[in-house]
Amino acid sequence: MQRLTHEEILGWLRETRPAALDQLFAQADQVRRERVGDAVHLRGLVEISNYCVRQCHYCGLRAARSTPRYRMNREEIVACAHKAVELGFGTLVMQAGEDFGIEAEWLAGVIRQIKSETPLAITLSLGERLLDEARLWRQAGADRYLVRFETSDPELYAAIHPLRGAAISDRVELLRELRKMGYEIGSGVMAGIPGQTYEILARDIELFAELDLDMIGIGPFIAHPETPLGAPDVATAGEDQVPNSELMVLKAVALTRLVCPEANMPATTALATINTVDGREHGLESGANVFMPILTPSPYRQMYQIYPGKACVDEDATQCNQCLRGRIQRLNRSVGEGQGGRRSGGGEAAFGNASQSAAATKARQPLSDELGQKESSQPAEETLSQFVVLR
Ligand code: SAH
Repeated sequence: MQRLTHEEILGWLRETRPAALDQLFAQADQVRRERVGDAVHLRGLVEISNYCVRQCHYCGLRAARSTPRYRMNREEIVACAHKAVELGFGTLVMQAGEDFGIEAEWLAGVIRQIKSETPLAITLSLGERLLDEARLWRQAGADRYLVRFETSDPELYAAIHPLRGAAISDRVELLRELRKMGYEIGSGVMAGIPGQTYEILARDIELFAELDLDMIGIGPFIAHPETPLGAPDVATAGEDQVPNSELMVLKAVALTRLVCPEANMPATTALATINTVDGREHGLESGANVFMPILTPSPYRQMYQIYPGKACVDEDATQCNQCLRGRIQRLNRSVGEGQGGRRSGGGEAAFGNASQSAAATKARQPLSDELGQKESSQPAEETLSQFVVLR
């Protein structure tokens, strides 16, 4: 399969004509159906600690912010794992701030216990921990590691992700090392961070393909008022600034599906936060095939404020599960069975009712209508022809 060129990706990111965009979303949806099927995999997310040593300029968990902190204990985490099984999820994602109070041996014990008591795949999302720690967790049974590189642009990265002392911070290199350890690797970016240009976002998408990522999460940047990037006078890239809009996220998701056809891609909680009504559905219709329902118990759930207004914080795990399953069903998609890894099965079960869902997709309104794209446009033959190289 041939790749979209840099110029083509850039052109699509800047595209505004609704008819052209509907072709893009339809194409991404078709590639998603053919390559990873109709199943939507559910990954239960447990936010195990909100302590953080870092000062990321976008994140509400940054060390400098004075906010109540918590760290879940072993019993609480294992209880979430059993809840995940009860709700029919195939994966448990343990996420946290970069918290060295999560001691490596201790977490290895938690991982071993969950792996011995449940059939779950385990994904870690704990920031930039030491390679030896990641190795230990892999040996204990962890299957996947998520660490978003946040931006492929070194200058923007340095500006939003300050170094911690003398330690180097190279998330791309970390991803490569994690893959060598046998992890499935996941990464991603936010769309619309101040300073992010269209060029940069296009290169981010190309880097996803270059790294051959197994999982890719893309959500909108949501300003947190108590962080540097949430300041009212924050510097942007002017005319080249990527907006943090739903439409921009959907374009990035769709293009990513085209260049990384086999990746597992969530319709993110951040996307659901900027469109609580049907942001998740739009994600699933533009190339995504994963939901990440939050399992974190109260009161911790409300304390894990990476950005304000996070969707679902007022629900509990059971309500989240029911809501998400309803959304999947209404799109005529199925819920994924098993662990749903890229390399370890789960996807195959998905191919059963592709034609049924193709019909369902056709019956829906074009996405651009739902997004309120009002301007009229020409039929998009010339843009469609860009896809010919893909097929
Ligand atoms: N400490 C871990 C987990 C961070 S939270 C790590 O650094 O990898 C997971 C993701 O949330 C981050 O990688 C970032 O892309 C996203 N995020 C952080 N702040 C955000 C904000 N203000 N708006 C939208 N997404 C945000």
